[in-house]
Amino acid sequence: MNPKTIKTFNPRTGDFLDQNYILSNLNDLNEKVSDAQLAFMVYRNTSGNERAILLETIAEEIESVTEEILAITTLETGLHAGRIQGETVRTIGQLRLFAEVARKEFWLDAVIDTALPDRRPLPKSDIRKCLIPIGPVAVFGASNFPLAFSTAGGDTVSAMASGNPVIVKAHNSHLGTHECIAAAITRALERCNLPKGIFSSIIAKGNELGAALVQHPGIKAVGFTGSYSGGTVLLDLVSKRKDPIPFYGEMGSVNPIILFTSALKDPKTVSSLISSINLGAGQFCTNPGLILTIDSEATQSFCLRMTEAIEQCVGEVMLNKAIYDSYEANMAEISAEKSYTLLGQGTKVADALSVKPSLALTSGKKFLTHPKMGKEIFGPFSLIVSCENDNELSEILMKIEGQLTFSFMGQEKEFNEQAHLIALAKEKAGRIIFNGVPTGVEVGYAMIHGGPFPATTAPNSTSVGTDAIRRFARPVCYQDAPQSLLPMALKDNNPLEIFRKINGKWCQDKI
Ligand code: NAP
Repeated sequence: MNPKTIKTFNPRTGDFLDQNYILSNLNDLNEKVSDAQLAFMVYRNTSGNERAILLETIAEEIESVTEEILAITTLETGLHAGRIQGETVRTIGQLRLFAEVARKEFWLDAVIDTALPDRRPLPKSDIRKCLIPIGPVAVFGASNFPLAFSTAGGDTVSAMASGNPVIVKAHNSHLGTHECIAAAITRALERCNLPKGIFSSIIAKGNELGAALVQHPGIKAVGFTGSYSGGTVLLDLVSKRKDPIPFYGEMGSVNPIILFTSALKDPKTVSSLISSINLGAGQFCTNPGLILTIDSEATQSFCLRMTEAIEQCVGEVMLNKAIYDSYEANMAEISAEKSYTLLGQGTKVADALSVKPSLALTSGKKFLTHPKMGKEIFGPFSLIVSCENDNELSEILMKIEGQLTFSFMGQEKEFNEQAHLIALAKEKAGRIIFNGVPTGVEVGYAMIHGGPFPATTAPNSTSVGTDAIRRFARPVCYQDAPQSLLPMALKDNNPLEIFRKINGKWCQDKI
């Protein structure tokens, strides 16, 4: 029997592409998880340097096929060449950053409390702890980041940097991109002489195999980027396992922006907000979907300038038919519903899945009672909420659900005068931005791309930046262990030369 296949779709032409991709079945999945479990026995014992070399080799392999990636990814996603090139550079940079993290081993978080044998009434044991890899990780890549949040994206790279095998559920919107990147990872594993089970993937249509993946007893953690509906279904399955495992879901966010008077009057505010709303057809989890102000003459003039600017915008294409349909349905609802005033819309391009960038207005009162306002509308849309007064604005901030980001635009004096709003925002989001837009997430040591539910399912974590590695590790402590049995990070002579917390003080000392 011929294997079942699936094709990807070109959002510009509205046609399916020629290539067929073979769908995986349950046997394939079981085999891949078994291979990952075997590979873990080897991979968890590799040094940070060996893992760094693997990540650098993957980066080199991806670099060697950038033209191929550009050709296929532009066809499958409708994203512009410049965006794909930028995302490729970001993906390669991310691999190299995590290589550095793996090599320097500081993520191990080594802590040592030395023994006090003479302590009275009881002697104190020698207790040492550090992080160890958690085991095979399932990764669900996102539609909107075919490279940086997909096959070799942040979840895969942070899991591999800490010594875990990864099984990726490829996103059906960009299977050609996926195969190109998966082949690059496989070549890198061969070049590094490491077991092939460290990386594998499945291609699936419908939800059955994805569900089986997160429920498989061999899987020890899950990284997911996508919709609230998908994320919560998978979270539910994971929590009902006999052995529930960590589930790191990054889902929707409207990324509220609060504008103070000086920002409302500043012409740069309109241009930076409009380009952020329309960037990549608004298909970013950091799209500024909600703009909050207090009603005034400055607010009304700002709304007029925003309307003029959105009407000048030319739309781009959406990533796939489901995302396109969902945006169009949302816009039809907003046009028909009295609670919204549709301020303006840009124009579509001729391509199949092109949409109009759009802007709507509502009052604080309506926002507070409407069941849907404040929920993510994925695409180039933003809702301005004009509040009656400061109390109403505070009430809205208290009502708003967990977010990835919260932004404030204005002058330092205004921020200080409204410090209570900033304090409220801190309770709701993983990143607080001053005088900037939420799109453009730097991959670095201090970045937090996370936040309280429903933005994510794990508010104490980040999916971007070097701290992402901690999601796929767990702490183990050793009590009175002989030196020969301790991991390198905890040995007296500090062979890794890392910073450790010894008796409460961070240092690079030997003991
Ligand atoms: P999605 O529909 O949640 O899909 C993400 C991945 O999870 C896909 O591989 C999908 O497989 C799988 N999946 C989803 N639900 C599943 C289930 N119940 N069981 C098993 N597997 C499941 O997200 P998307 O396609 O990336 O985008 C759709 C919507 O997600 C957007 O309209 C937007 O609202 C939101 N989104 C949010 C972010 C963010 O970063 N916060 C990013 C992208 C999208 P299949 O494709 O095979 O179903």
